[in-house]
Amino acid sequence: MILILLGPPGSGKGTQAQKTARQLAVPHLSVGDLLRKEAAKQSALGKQIGASLKQGELVSEAITLQIVRERIQQTDCENGFVIDGFPRTVQQAQTFNKLLNKLRRKPDHVLWIDVDAESLLERLSGRRICPNCKAIYHVKFRPPLKPGICDRCGQILIQRSDDTPSVIEKRIRQSLTEMEKLKSFYHAQGILRTIDGNREEWQISDEIMRIIRNVRLFMTIEV
Ligand code: AMP
Repeated sequence: MILILLGPPGSGKGTQAQKTARQLAVPHLSVGDLLRKEAAKQSALGKQIGASLKQGELVSEAITLQIVRERIQQTDCENGFVIDGFPRTVQQAQTFNKLLNKLRRKPDHVLWIDVDAESLLERLSGRRICPNCKAIYHVKFRPPLKPGICDRCGQILIQRSDDTPSVIEKRIRQSLTEMEKLKSFYHAQGILRTIDGNREEWQISDEIMRIIRNVRLFMTIEV
């Protein structure tokens, strides 16, 4: 099962991808996390990636593809994976399709999590993450039991450097324009479903699982 979760920054796609991957017992591939991990190495490649991350700009296609290619060829991805934050452009989607084709694989589902633009800013500015286990929190909507501390591993939570108001706005603007084209691309392939992301987390994850299990749901908005 190869599942692609798409949505603007702050749509909750990372949280949903983590959860869905756990339920399907396949790895969760967060391309943002993979890029941040590489950036943290401070290698020549890492420094290049880090500069783009800080500005809220997309990392070059060649670098992103290289990182994704290496990751999906690891043995734990043999039974599938849930990927979020990728592809982000039609060009990336086309290259990704070619790569999967070579590996005799294809995406099974592409889910777009749709959230109102106004909610995105509030969600992103309150987001806190655990640098250790990657758990995602929100100061208002999903606070940890102890303020500032990860419930799962006890690490001090951090705010991502690109979760600042000016960078957030840029990321949202950029992603919404590009994502419309991306949605049309997957819609034409007949594998895109849009999910209303302005609901409770459990309702969204229920719907994701029902779509995966191929149950027709009245809440699914056909696009
Ligand atoms: P995310 O964790 O998905 O919000 O991504 C954080 C940042 O990583 C983005 O603002 C981009 O700088 C970079 N990034 C994530 N996914 C991609 C991608 N598919 N292509 C290029 N850059 C990406």
